[in-house]
Amino acid sequence: MRLSKIFIPTLKEIPSDALIPSHQLMLRAGMIRPLGAGVYSFLPLGYRILKKVMEIIRDEMDAIGGQEFHLPALNPIELWEETGRVKDFGDTMFHLKNRPLVLAPTHEEVICSIAKNHIKSYRDLPQIWYQIQMKFRNEPRPRSGVIRGRQFIMKDAYTLDATWEGLDKGYDLHAEAYKKIFSRAGLKFFIVGASSGAMGGSASQEFMVESESGEDTCALCDQCGYAANLEVATSNMPKAQRDAEIKPIEEIHTPNVGTIDELKEFLKVDEQRLAKSLVYMQDKNPILILMMGNDQLNETKLLSVIKSAVRPSQAEELKTLTGADAGSIGPLGLQGFKIIVDKRLEGANNLISGANKNDYHIGNIDLQRDVKVDGYYDLRTINAGEPCLKCGKPLRVVNAIELGHIFKLGTKYSDAMHAYYLDENGKEKPIIMGSYGIGVERIMACYIEQNHDKHGIMWSKALSPYHVHLIQVNSNHEKVVQTAEHLYEKLQQSLVDVLFDDRNDVSPGFKFKDADLLGIPLQVIVGEKNLAHGNIELKERSTGKRDIVEISKVVSYVEKFLES
Ligand code: ATP
Ligand code: MG
Repeated sequence: MRLSKIFIPTLKEIPSDALIPSHQLMLRAGMIRPLGAGVYSFLPLGYRILKKVMEIIRDEMDAIGGQEFHLPALNPIELWEETGRVKDFGDTMFHLKNRPLVLAPTHEEVICSIAKNHIKSYRDLPQIWYQIQMKFRNEPRPRSGVIRGRQFIMKDAYTLDATWEGLDKGYDLHAEAYKKIFSRAGLKFFIVGASSGAMGGSASQEFMVESESGEDTCALCDQCGYAANLEVATSNMPKAQRDAEIKPIEEIHTPNVGTIDELKEFLKVDEQRLAKSLVYMQDKNPILILMMGNDQLNETKLLSVIKSAVRPSQAEELKTLTGADAGSIGPLGLQGFKIIVDKRLEGANNLISGANKNDYHIGNIDLQRDVKVDGYYDLRTINAGEPCLKCGKPLRVVNAIELGHIFKLGTKYSDAMHAYYLDENGKEKPIIMGSYGIGVERIMACYIEQNHDKHGIMWSKALSPYHVHLIQVNSNHEKVVQTAEHLYEKLQQSLVDVLFDDRNDVSPGFKFKDADLLGIPLQVIVGEKNLAHGNIELKERSTGKRDIVEISKVVSYVEKFLES
């Protein structure tokens, strides 16, 4: 393709509303343009890369026996009412105004409706169904360019099985395929155990890329490789000690002391002695949660314990329920509360907590003796530097971008939609499902996040929109033009994809800058000086390594480069 003909509107300046490198570079390299918040047009160069990403995904999905579908984005709303997800998605789902239709944010419902009508018997199972298609989500904060769009391309796959072992197998196949896809795309990624959240189901893992601009937070151990989303991460923090000495409870006057730090200072005690009390509401029922000292409650962990929606109590509610304000709440003398305690406080005694009376605390609380505890659970959010549960080395806490997610859904959707099959004994059973997503644009953007320098992008051979970037340096020099045209033809004959900068109204400096910006891995530079000796210069974009080669050897050099 000739640069004089192709539409690649590059920008010299960094667009001011693009805050992260991938967004800036995709705009500057003329790959995308915004149309509205979180909505992007892919221009020819950008779309070529996207297609390469999709081909890698397709290849690996086909290799595990996936069958490609193309499902409609326009869905009847009744379908989503069957599973209750109109409510679950809430404002995140786009609804049409003039028809009872929604734009699908994912496709469990459509898959389930097809399975329900056409999967009759265990003999029809297992199945792996996938598609690469548009999704629509009214993300509250679309940002980071295509990384969080309101319209984006997802590869979504679904396994349908008759047995739980089948589900495990399908899940493992996807995990392996995902590793291959991300490795082939040239991404450095890690896998974390994740919360299944609103999707339901049991096991779930996310494929992550470490990035300052990521909206997920993960704990990583560089020593043993432990990695988990902060929503579920655990560490090896010491538990509270149980004292041999049993002391009677006592009321302590603590005027104007509210926070754990103030209390620690005021009473001159160790933080491990302090039990912070938080009150959450499950509908109308209050739950008191005890955490050690300044430990932060992890709401995702709380949700997985309570298994239904909870919210922090409001100040007035708190006063009515306990008789005190936040900062003076404690586990003694409460009526109608469920009390759950973080594991670090398991069985502890001689604890200090609020007295449910402003300006007072209670000392020497013995959780075994004084409190009716409904359960001890891991409820805390870990912090950077805490010892790894597996190997004891300090954990890192990093921001990350989610590339893909695999879930064991189980029968949540098939139960809701009556997608049943008949087993060997002719008995009706719900189909067991798994669901597996990959963000297609995210692969492209994350690759750029990890592979760029101050001049531009550095594409891998697998994702590059063209194999080589041929530059005709001096367009007014007859021999240069002739040689460049000759090489353009020869390379194409050898099935090399060439982007040919044949522009005659652009300075050499500008051409070199554009070549580095677009980031095609190999540049073939036809310039006057080398040509005088019958030579061509070749530059590797990622390393900057340059070679001088005779004209007749350029094609074989390029072929060798592409094979390596
Ligand atoms: P996130 O937590 O980042 O919102 P999610 O948990 O909502 O992601 P899934 O529903 O599991 O994502 O979707 C599967 C994949 O689709 C994600 O792993 C991600 O790569 C991609 N994806 C999700 N939302 C978006 C979006 N708004 N824009 C671009 N890609 C997205
Ligand atoms: Mg989301």
